[in-house]
Amino acid sequence: MHTIGIDVGGTEIKAGLVDEAGRVLESARGASNRDDLGALVDAIASLAGSVTPAGGNPAGVGVGVPGLVRPGTGRVEFAPNMPALRGAAVGPLLSERTGLDVEVRNDADMNAWGEFAAGAGRGSSRLVCLTVGTGLGSGVILDGRLYEGASGHGAEAGHIVVDPDGHACGCGGRGCLETGVSATGIVALARERIDAGDATALSVAGGALTARRVRDAAAGGDALAIGVWDDVGRCLGVACASLINLLGPDTIIIGGGVAAAGAMLLDPALAEARARAYPPLFAACRIVPAELGQDAGVVGAALLAGRRARESSLASPL
Ligand SMILES: [Zn+2]
Repeated sequence: MHTIGIDVGGTEIKAGLVDEAGRVLESARGASNRDDLGALVDAIASLAGSVTPAGGNPAGVGVGVPGLVRPGTGRVEFAPNMPALRGAAVGPLLSERTGLDVEVRNDADMNAWGEFAAGAGRGSSRLVCLTVGTGLGSGVILDGRLYEGASGHGAEAGHIVVDPDGHACGCGGRGCLETGVSATGIVALARERIDAGDATALSVAGGALTARRVRDAAAGGDALAIGVWDDVGRCLGVACASLINLLGPDTIIIGGGVAAAGAMLLDPALAEARARAYPPLFAACRIVPAELGQDAGVVGAALLAGRRARESSLASPL
């Protein structure tokens, strides 16, 4: 059984035809549209068509979006960074266009499902997947199912408070994990230290400051940049310790573009989590990098749609 996975971002949409093992058989990318729902749905439907082989009959479509989705409705309830999605019935609209069953979820949940089913979380039954990019998204899987919580929107680990007096967060709070552990947080911290006059190669290099530049500077031995990554990693470790103490997961997966920094981020995170988590709970949990890279959202969306198709065919065998 093949299904289609779609990962909707603010600037780009990724699509893939995925088999039951999570292998991407066909893939395509196209431009997204932040503001116009009609254009966005057109783009998604067109990409879904382009990864469907002639005569192919996918069993369903999964779509990950940067917003909060009411489970079972395909309707986006909250999308602070993408006006086109606000209140949009993405699932029903796409179902009408494609003639297929459509499952819509938050993109970080789709990443978590991809890693759980076909990536670094294979064999796990209780995991937390943190996707560190511009912000910090999270998905929690408990006893093999995506945790939806009382609101239907699961958990938002990016908004766990790690510093009560910290920076203002886009959610209206202060000192949330995502204000420190994200590309935005890395740039803000580096900027703060450059402005404070700390010596660094970054202050004299041209171009806009980005997390990638701070990463490259750290890899080149720049003390300020190394200090930034160390502090960001430690902050991530503080949050991991809390997640371990609260949920007792067997796996915490760190993915997203910022996680490409590898040991620079994970080593201090691991040391901090080890120092802070309750020891027997820490001993039962591994903290590992994601395996699926940029495909996690597409694979997770497709595999979750596949699970839904199997469950509905079991429920109504005729
Ligand atoms: Zn927040």
